[in-house]
Amino acid sequence: MFAASLDTTIEFLKGVGPKRAELLQKELGIYTYEQLLNFFPFRYIDRTRFYKVKELNPDLPYVQILGRITGKEQIGEKHKRRIVARLTDETGSIELVWFQSLKWVDENVMRGKVYIVFGKPTLFNGSFSISHPELEPYPRPTTMTGNLRLQPVYNSTEKLKKFFLDSKGIQKLQTLIIEQHLSEIRETLPMPVLQKYQMVSRKQALLNIHFPKDVEALKAAERRLKFEELFFIQLQLLHNKKLRELKFKGHRFEAVGSRVNTFYKDILPFEMTGAQKRVIKEIRMDTQRGIQMNRLVQGDVGSGKTVVALMSMLLANDNGFQACMMAPTEILARQHHESITSLLDGKLSKVAVLTGSTTKKQRTKLHAELQNGEIDILVGTHALIEDKVVFKNLGMVVIDEQHRFGVEQRAKLWRKNTVPPHILVMTATPIPRTLAMTLYGDLDVSVIDELPVGRKPIETRHFFEGQRLRMFGFMKAEIAKGRQVYIVYPLIKESEKLDLLHLEAGIEQISDQFPRPEYQISIVHGKMSNADKQFEMQQFIDGKSQIMVATTVIEVGVNVPNASIMVIENAERFGLSQLHQLRGRVGRGAEQSYCILMSGNKLSADGRLRLDTMVKTNNGFEISEIDLQLRGPGDITGTQQSGVLELKLADLATDQLILQEARSTVMDILNKDPQLEDPAYSLLKTYLAKRSRGIAFDKIS
Ligand code: ADP
Ligand code: MG
Repeated sequence: MFAASLDTTIEFLKGVGPKRAELLQKELGIYTYEQLLNFFPFRYIDRTRFYKVKELNPDLPYVQILGRITGKEQIGEKHKRRIVARLTDETGSIELVWFQSLKWVDENVMRGKVYIVFGKPTLFNGSFSISHPELEPYPRPTTMTGNLRLQPVYNSTEKLKKFFLDSKGIQKLQTLIIEQHLSEIRETLPMPVLQKYQMVSRKQALLNIHFPKDVEALKAAERRLKFEELFFIQLQLLHNKKLRELKFKGHRFEAVGSRVNTFYKDILPFEMTGAQKRVIKEIRMDTQRGIQMNRLVQGDVGSGKTVVALMSMLLANDNGFQACMMAPTEILARQHHESITSLLDGKLSKVAVLTGSTTKKQRTKLHAELQNGEIDILVGTHALIEDKVVFKNLGMVVIDEQHRFGVEQRAKLWRKNTVPPHILVMTATPIPRTLAMTLYGDLDVSVIDELPVGRKPIETRHFFEGQRLRMFGFMKAEIAKGRQVYIVYPLIKESEKLDLLHLEAGIEQISDQFPRPEYQISIVHGKMSNADKQFEMQQFIDGKSQIMVATTVIEVGVNVPNASIMVIENAERFGLSQLHQLRGRVGRGAEQSYCILMSGNKLSADGRLRLDTMVKTNNGFEISEIDLQLRGPGDITGTQQSGVLELKLADLATDQLILQEARSTVMDILNKDPQLEDPAYSLLKTYLAKRSRGIAFDKIS
């Protein structure tokens, strides 16, 4: 006999064997004892509660009944053969039915004996029955992993179930591992951390996550394992950050010079908000350290990120460096260029723009002026990244709408100077703090959580279909005042055909209500060519059309301050963050703006909550928190980054505190001991080393 350990292949566990091992690998990705041990229950059934027969009702999920077998017979022929037993307590009796394992039932379920029966009751012809109940003799025997008050429930699959690896089957395997290998489970967190947060050992935690002694023990186990999960994510993120800081020197912006000062004192037409000032100060601190800055600025639409970007770029210029700003689309790039040139009023710095539609001739000139340092600030699209674009001395890169750029593209920008430029990433999609700490945990994060004073908050109303004519009337009144209106339709892949029909019907109705030549309507949707889209948008931007009917393509988009109404059709079908982004298209001018959410009469509870939330608040951070509660982190960010969000136990919507603790613990450790030299951290060091070679965590404990 060889001695099994936690590293042993699962095949060798008693009751597994080659066939089931293969299934466990294929279905659940479990190869070793250890990995099985790290496969946690997804819920627990309270087995302290016993139901009386009289209390049963068909809505109950699994129940537990204590009773005596008062009858048992085998009936039916061949494939209809079954055993029906009667279970009786002092309030009544129910039927237990088995279609399979009849031999076992015949030998083990004894008339006259008392059992604990567990299963889902169904009502048939006025009486209850449970098919294939679990049965335990009463009283229960006591063992370390038996006698459970909280019974673990594991996810299984149809294939696994065929081989008796249902939840119960998996529980049996866990029992074996715990009984034989508990002592081998090693601690993964440093002792001082455990002590500081009074957490149970890994051994205790694993024992109690599978076989909780009681609710308190389960809570303690969960807390410890959640902490661990988040701790190691943070360790990786923050360690990367530390390494980057150690490795990459940054341009040192010693001074606030004349351009920043003049702009701030003489040119800037308004007073900055407290939040803007704070973020600029943070950027100022970052760029003085001689370490490359990597900062993310989150701020709702209209919070004034452009000025913050411009100040940062002027700061670079003041210190003898060039700066660039990159946007995800041509329209946005051109708008940034326009706002920046108009803010600067032709003074201080020379600004240029580079996009896909820049002509060859313009390009040649531009390339030369970049290389000889004549251009101070370059605004553009992806075109900026191209190798042909060479700066004399690039010191600051601003990236707008970060999620649209990949890591590789960011890296290309880094290489535009021997010492990489400072990087400022800006996003108008507020995300909850916990998500930011996880997704952008290796960046410093600033938040502009304040809108410029005097801005009129957008008024949001929810209308049902029956109020449509009122809505049209309102539109007419606003258009008569010279305003413009967006009308947005959902267009989703899964329901594309139907959506397009709705869109067409909508366009027809709108054309009826708003006939030419009095009204002009622009139409933009994803099925159109880029050139057509550009043309239609330009019509609207130039004020030549009063109504823009669009699918969600306008979501990241244009700035038309004169547009003061956003109508969202089938609003109940949009996610919260999308609704908020759409609403952000209005409220950009001096006029009072409105957002009208149109919906059908039938709303799901979630749909209702989303619309109510929109009506109630304009605050993007508040909205993002509710969105996180409703949808979970994966959906909020889209799939591309979900890797870090595939958390086993921790929940970013509810475990803020634990995440906070884990992150600050890691920060403390890395600040004191960036290279993790202290022997107390040797495990952490091993983890990082293995991780960087692509070995999963399960392998190290
Ligand atoms: P964001 O990019 O964050 O959506 P912008 O930078 O485009 O917002 O700013 C929106 C508008 O508000 C612009 O017209 C800008 O000039 C103006 N603005 C920015 N900051 C302030 C402020 N502190 N006070 C008044 N207006 C401001
Ligand atoms: Mg902006």
